[in-house]
Amino acid sequence: MLQVIGYAAKEAKASLTPFSFERRDLLDHDVVIDIQYCGICHTDIHQVKNEWGRSTYPMVPGHEIVGTVSQIGSQVMRFKVGDKVGVGCFVDSCRNCDACSQGLEQYCSNVLTTYNGIEKDGKTPTQGGYSNKIIVDENYILRIPDNIVSERAAPLLCAGITLYSPLMKWKAGPGKKVAIVGLGGLGHIGIKIAHALGAEVTVLSHSPKKQEDAKKMGADNFYTTSDAKTFEKLEGYFDIMINTVSTDLNLNQYLNLLRLDGTIVVVGVPEKDAQINAYSLISARRNLAGSLIGGISETQEMLDFCSKHDIACDIELIPIQKVNEAYERILNSDVRYRFVIDLNSLGKM
Ligand code: NAP
Ligand code: ZN
Ligand code: ZN
Repeated sequence: MLQVIGYAAKEAKASLTPFSFERRDLLDHDVVIDIQYCGICHTDIHQVKNEWGRSTYPMVPGHEIVGTVSQIGSQVMRFKVGDKVGVGCFVDSCRNCDACSQGLEQYCSNVLTTYNGIEKDGKTPTQGGYSNKIIVDENYILRIPDNIVSERAAPLLCAGITLYSPLMKWKAGPGKKVAIVGLGGLGHIGIKIAHALGAEVTVLSHSPKKQEDAKKMGADNFYTTSDAKTFEKLEGYFDIMINTVSTDLNLNQYLNLLRLDGTIVVVGVPEKDAQINAYSLISARRNLAGSLIGGISETQEMLDFCSKHDIACDIELIPIQKVNEAYERILNSDVRYRFVIDLNSLGKM
């Protein structure tokens, strides 16, 4: 077993504190990664608080992982010691089902999440990237392009792919009007990717504070959702809207902003369910959709797209000792625009 140190929540809603644990033995197709950076996704907070009811403890969160390969199993073909690599939200899947065979491993009913799951040995809990080392099968590891600085690449592994996948599926591009609802970790990378795809990008944010930043990231327009006039002015305007907000919104108000055949894609996962008004859907044949991260090959495609378009995340780098403070700031929407943990700060513990 591999001895690892990290930070864990020992029970629901607990603060994160130092934690030592073991990872499973290295298998033939496995890679050991020395973790350098890990982004803080809002999902980590939902999970620590058990807001979705499926959390297990102790829990080491973190699924936006970048590091260096330090050891490889005997059969590993794709990576060598020293490679700069990443791991996202899942570390294995069944590899046989319809979803897996289409490269949509994230929709596999046996997908193994980076934390909060049980390894294929049937007993070892998976633990995430707020730690110094992880073991992952080579088929579930991403290559980080050289021209993206590691700490600014880390949030691409979840936030980046979560926006790239629906923007591609619903064909954001020239002539398309895209709205990004919520300017946090997911939203900010959504602006950059939609802009690079050539779409007209509008940000809908619940306060005016982030307007200047949004424009710098490539947004063409910015509107405040606390102003009721926004919903009158933009009625029937958008082709595609991506809702990244982590709390419940009146989705009907947002559906009304879609044009004929427009689509709202829900990616934010609030604790409470939304109520949908049928008229908001049928009055313009609107579509209500959802999207979950992306598969391994699409995640690699997104990383290569970001490399080509010089896209990286806007981050605040923190030592792990500040993780609980960062959680509070995220909950207050005070994030510019992703916290990334520098795992060097773990020291020897
Ligand atoms: P985040 O950085 O906290 O951003 C969420 C944004 O939502 C905030 O910055 C804020 O933007 C807006 N917001 C927060 N409270 C609000 C309120 N009361 N009213 C209106 N807007 C509010 O979170 P994130 O990491 O981007 O994650 C967002 C959500 O996506 C979470 O629920 C997360 O679990 C989920 N997620 C889903 C997937 C997937 O695959 N579908 C993947 C990753 C994360 P403004 O200040 O601009 O309004
Ligand atoms: Zn995430
Ligand atoms: Zn499968």
